[in-house]
Amino acid sequence: MKKLRNYIGGEFSNSENHNWISSFNPASGLEICKIEKSDFQDVDNAVKAAKDAFDEWSSKTFKERADWLIKIAKGLESRIDEIANLESMDTGKPITIAKEVDAKRSILNFEFFAEIISDIETQEFEMRDATNIVIQKPVGVGALITPWNLPLYLLSWKVAPAIGMGNTVVCKPSELTPMTADLLMRVIDDVNLPPGVVNLIHGDGEVAGSGLVSHDGIDLVSFTGGTLTGEKVATSSAKSFKKMSLELGGKNSSIVFSDCDLERTLDDVVRAGFLNQGQICLCGSRVLIEDSIYENFKKRLVEKVDGLKMGDPFDESTEIGSLISKEHRDKVSSYVDLAIEEGGEILTGLQSGKPIGFEGGNWMNPVIIEGLSVNSRCSTEEIFGPIVTIHSFSTEQEVISIANNTDYGLAGSIWTADIEKAQRVAKSINSGMIWINTWLHRDLRVPFGGVKKSGMGREGGRWSLDFFSETMNICIKDTK
Ligand code: NDP
Repeated sequence: MKKLRNYIGGEFSNSENHNWISSFNPASGLEICKIEKSDFQDVDNAVKAAKDAFDEWSSKTFKERADWLIKIAKGLESRIDEIANLESMDTGKPITIAKEVDAKRSILNFEFFAEIISDIETQEFEMRDATNIVIQKPVGVGALITPWNLPLYLLSWKVAPAIGMGNTVVCKPSELTPMTADLLMRVIDDVNLPPGVVNLIHGDGEVAGSGLVSHDGIDLVSFTGGTLTGEKVATSSAKSFKKMSLELGGKNSSIVFSDCDLERTLDDVVRAGFLNQGQICLCGSRVLIEDSIYENFKKRLVEKVDGLKMGDPFDESTEIGSLISKEHRDKVSSYVDLAIEEGGEILTGLQSGKPIGFEGGNWMNPVIIEGLSVNSRCSTEEIFGPIVTIHSFSTEQEVISIANNTDYGLAGSIWTADIEKAQRVAKSINSGMIWINTWLHRDLRVPFGGVKKSGMGREGGRWSLDFFSETMNICIKDTK
């Protein structure tokens, strides 16, 4: 059985305690590897290695560090098929998504940040008798904690700007999806990145994750994960005033007006609801449909969702893969029981059955539910699986108030031919991001993040550069 080791100070090393966690292919239920179950000693070793590497790394120029990011991007590019295969095997997602979304974006993240850090210029503000020079300095040692749904995509989104700005880091990927984090360490090792700049500890959240964020040697925490975990991370980081960014859960609305382009909207609303089995923080898991087209849109939506092909994640024609774990599947499917209790009607998805050859996996058909109150738990809580609730509305004011009646505020989409109306509605929704007539259309230069229980801070483009640095002003008085 393959064993994945920690990467500390440029060496793949065994945990001090010799304990292992098994990792499974969620589509088949078969064990695929074991990972180190790191303890506090391992965390401490990794933080020390990052600290030791900091002075030399932080003294390099942006251009020098950009060159390293490009080397890493090239190393990943040469393993693009391996990234996609490992990601599909580790998460149960369709190989087409692993190729088109996960693998490509992981490489692009390094290329993109290499480009924008190369453009960083010192700003100067002249006074009558002095000059101010504003510089961006690295923060120190960063803890980068990532979830299982987009493993390398999200890890690279943190590692690239963090080290690009001159920090050194310790990464803690989800114990459920360690494979591509290990691949990234192998690439980093192959390109001979100076030891200690990037370190990785495997293990569980409770011991390795919490040990890392509460470690005194950590200066910055970038966390992506669930809201409840985010609360714990925030509490332990705040005690020592660590710089912190939290990208947390979402409950996003897809708002469909009667004047939308029906065919395009249907395809994209299905994609927004069920891509990656609905396990993306940005997924539109509540579809709000203007009442005049409700019945027709509902009928067509159910037909489209019924037509999605669930099956072997490695089959190029598969559209729906498996959920990440049995525990997660049980949690997601408990919302179907809850919806029935809450008075909802299940329009599709109750049929059971697993693809042949995958009987041990965590499968669930895509579900559409109607008839629930917009205040019901299924309609307001993050489910993070292939469940979409549908609701009708009759006015702009009503749809805005429905979209805002959750504790989350991450994203959403609006579908209409009237762009003025769409912008008016978008501005009234309390969230970090709204797409109009599109979904998950990402420009890496723009801010990414949420409000309310969806998180704190923004990453993306210059917002990532700001988060992963401290801004300092040096004022020089003229002596003449
Ligand atoms: P979790 O919050 O369970 O875990 C996220 C990471 O935190 C994992 O690496 C986990 O390790 C670690 N962790 C767990 N407990 C602690 C702790 N006490 N201290 C420090 N780290 C800890 O989230 P999931 O992995 O289940 O991911 C799903 C969630 O992520 C959803 O809510 C989703 O909305 C959110 N998400 C948000 C995104 C955004 O950009 N806003 C993007 C993607 C996902 P381990 O798994 O080993 O326990």
